[in-house]
Amino acid sequence: MGQGLSCAGSNEQGLFRAVQVGHLKTVEDLLERDPALLHHATAYDHHSVLHIAAANAQVEILSMLLERSMNPDLLNRQKQTPLMLAAMHGKMSCVKSLLEAGANILMFDSLHGRTCLHYAAYYGHADCLQAILSAAQSSTVAVSWGFARFVNIRDGRGATPLHLAARQRRPDCVHILLNNGALVCASTGGYGSLGSTPLHLAARGGSLDCIRALLAWGADRLQRDASGRIPYLVALKRKHGVCAALLNPSSAEPLVWPSPLKFIGELNQEAKDLLEQALMAANREREKTVLKGTAYSLPSPSPSHSDVGVEDNISEVSDAELCSICFEQMCTIEVQDCGHQMCAHCTLALCCHNKPNPTTACLTPPVCPFCRGIISKLVVADIKDCDDSDFNSGDTSSCKLRRSRRSQNLSEGSSSFKGLAASFGKMGGRSSGRIGAENEWVDKT
Ligand SMILES: [Zn+2]
Ligand SMILES: [Zn+2]
Repeated sequence: MGQGLSCAGSNEQGLFRAVQVGHLKTVEDLLERDPALLHHATAYDHHSVLHIAAANAQVEILSMLLERSMNPDLLNRQKQTPLMLAAMHGKMSCVKSLLEAGANILMFDSLHGRTCLHYAAYYGHADCLQAILSAAQSSTVAVSWGFARFVNIRDGRGATPLHLAARQRRPDCVHILLNNGALVCASTGGYGSLGSTPLHLAARGGSLDCIRALLAWGADRLQRDASGRIPYLVALKRKHGVCAALLNPSSAEPLVWPSPLKFIGELNQEAKDLLEQALMAANREREKTVLKGTAYSLPSPSPSHSDVGVEDNISEVSDAELCSICFEQMCTIEVQDCGHQMCAHCTLALCCHNKPNPTTACLTPPVCPFCRGIISKLVVADIKDCDDSDFNSGDTSSCKLRRSRRSQNLSEGSSSFKGLAASFGKMGGRSSGRIGAENEWVDKT
């Protein structure tokens, strides 16, 4: 019994090992014998048992420790919280349980002055990132700090989570952050090069998907960092050829997610997803043109994009479901309140603008191309229900209504929307080239 010190020392080591490998029973036994062990930390890093559990995804032990009202915001030597470690290692269950226990998301480490949101973005754990953002929306942080401010929180060198995600080639995190109001043109202090935007850092990292997402959200290809470089030059210097081709200011400007649509408050999530898919598909078409003359060919499209799904849909299209603007795609988007339908590509073309041409940027909310009514909401067109009601209830009134609307669309589309169809067909969006050419020809005769 005279060896209390070394005995406590070995108990301590035993506890840390048991937490690391997840032996709940051993941990409980050790704490039963010596409750004070709970407050021990590792010798060098000063990790608490909570840090060890969080970093190793030992959620059972973590929950047990939190239930013993252990402070969830303990700090290690570098002032990292258990939540930061869980976010760094992508241990989603631990992130969740720490958030539920009220862990503070607004803590900064002493290493780079980063928060748990920086950690999730830097290491590319999209699920953890999303969980922290959801917590931020409902916590006091949103009230005291403001949610938008939290999304754009800067580390010790001026980097926002979006900067880090772009630099580390994390397209999923880039996407989530942009969707939550991350500023696409924020410039850093000392991170990367002075005054770098997320686009500079994506160019440096060489992630095509990050560059695509940032451009679609309106990132400026001409913004310079403190040494006067545009992202194009950064990509060239790092020998990211394909990225450089897209960032070249003289190549075609990509379509940009329309800002009026971004703020149609009630834009339904499914509709938004459809529109976004259409936007990205259209931009990939543009990329092919951009890269045609260069030595680069595009890598095969990533499986996460649903080109295949779209193709499948097309093969099932009956005439009644065809978009009456382009006559190519199925009607997937319904305008409310008027109920007119069109495809996602056409909806987007209607609202999208080309970045370098501010005169075409629509500053007012877009209107329905069929009735010129204000678009109060865009929802996913409900086509399947129509067939069901034919067979099941015999109640075809809603179906007839929709059919008549479509035929109205068709007749209108065949006349006054010819120009729209011509220009939207290729998502070129600029001017109705075909009509112009016809007029020219008419003039000469
Ligand atoms: Zn269409
Ligand atoms: Zn309408």
